[in-house]
Order: sequence, then C-alpha cells, then structure tokens
Amino acid sequence: MGKKRCTAIVLAAGQGSRMKSDVAKQYMLLGDRPLIWYALHAVEESSVIDDCILVIGAEDISFAKEKIVAKYEFRKVKAVVAGGKERYDSVYSGLQAAAGRESVQGGENSYVPDRDGYIFIQDGARPFLTEDILKRCLAEVERTGACAAGMPVKDTIKFADQEGCVAGTPDRTRLWQIQTPQVFEAALIMEAYERLMREKETLAAAGVKITDDAGVVELMLERPVRLVEGSYRNIKVTTPEDIVVAEALMQDFRDGRLREENT
Ligand code: C5P
Repeated sequence: MGKKRCTAIVLAAGQGSRMKSDVAKQYMLLGDRPLIWYALHAVEESSVIDDCILVIGAEDISFAKEKIVAKYEFRKVKAVVAGGKERYDSVYSGLQAAAGRESVQGGENSYVPDRDGYIFIQDGARPFLTEDILKRCLAEVERTGACAAGMPVKDTIKFADQEGCVAGTPDRTRLWQIQTPQVFEAALIMEAYERLMREKETLAAAGVKITDDAGVVELMLERPVRLVEGSYRNIKVTTPEDIVVAEALMQDFRDGRLREENT
C-alpha cells in the first residue's frame, strides 16, 4: 500500500501576547528569517508532507501570501486561511480548508481534499520541526490513527491550589510535555472538531480548557492518542527568553545539522 496523502496545518494566528513585542511573534526575525519560515521550510523540504494549509490572522492574509509564501517559494502551501479567537478555532478553520469547505487557491497549486489522508497539525511557533519527528509521527499514525509528539518532563511538576500551595505531586515518570506535530486520520480529526464546535460553549461554561488537538480527540471521541518521541529541541517560542534559546539552536537547523540527541 502506498503512502496516504499527508496535509500539514501550520498555525500562526495567535496574538503572541506573552512575547511582549511590537512585532507579531510569527514575523520576528530568527537569524534573517521570520519565525514562521522555519516550520514552513521543514514542511516544504519533507518527504512526508504533501501539502500545507497556513492559518494566519485575518488581517495578515495578503501579507503572508506575498511576503512569506510567494517570497520564499513555499510551493506546498495550497491555502492561507484566517484563524480564530482560540487555537482550536484556528485548527477548525484549517480543517475546513483541508475538507475543501473554504476557498482554496487553484491552478498549479490546486488542492483536492482527501478524507482518507492524514492531517499533521503543527504550531507555527515551533521552528525546529525535523524530518525525523515527521517520520516517527507518520509511522505511528499509520499504525494507530492518532498520535502527538512530546517528551518526558525533566522537572518535577506540582499541582497547585488556589492559594498557591502545593496540592499534590504527580508521578514524574508518567508525565510528558506535549509538542506538535499532532497527527490524525483526516476523518477522525474532522469528526472530533465538528463535535467540539457544537459543544464548545457548554465546555467553556464548565471551565474546560482545550490547548491541543490530542485533548480534543480525548474529550470528544474518548479514543487513545499515542505519544511519539519529539525532541527537547522542538521548543515553542512563547516568551522573550525562548528567543535566546532559539537563536542558539537556529544555526544548526539552518545548516541541516540539527541532531536528535534529545539531551
Ligand atoms: O497559544 P499557544 O502557545 O498554544 O499557540 C500555539 C500555536 O497556535 C502558535 O503557533 C499560535 O500562533 C497558534 N494559535 C493560532 N490561533 C490562536 C491561538 C494560537 O493559530 N487563536
């Protein structure tokens, strides 16, 4: 059996408010490239990914088409669509495009929806996505239909109560920090998000916070999601100090020398 079609949804519609910067986080320069370039470049170069949908703030669509997609010749990007208020709204918007329910650029770059393929959901704020991580995720989604990249935590994690006191210490050997990509059979993730969209007000009223895609699948389909080894270098650039770390990792990545030591 040949490989099924793999579509990446790259998310870059967040406000980046924790970065406390005047320039939107996705366009901040890392070396001489905007932050969003790195994830798109990994996708473009990958033998795993066939096409890509970029989700961006509504006001930035023309800018992103011209100054990112066209300028850097990201040919796998078949659509640039507007995200929403929460991360899950942005993912849903990307899934709508992947299902062919939003207008998608035609011509040479035409995109044919494929409910039989796989969807790779990737934070645009994670610049150091590698081909090895993509390959591990593909192997797992082919086996089980749903997986998320992550790494075992290094620190001890505590539950806190509302007074800021320790309320418990979970067993560290079972704790993982979750990354992206999070990868699913297309029909499965579309079903999970359709259900979420029907129930999101009720869930929000009940105080349920949804911060990743595996969480949506757990909640809506009560279905197992396998954990796949990501990399400790697969960081999310969120706060100013992350830029310092990213600068240090960037040169290896740009030179194609990023090794997977997971140290
Ligand atoms: O907010 P968080 O750190 O979880 O964001 C992870 C990724 O999701 C970032 O790349 C961000 O741009 C994206 N995002 C989005 N739409 C939102 C919120 C976050 O595309 N409403």
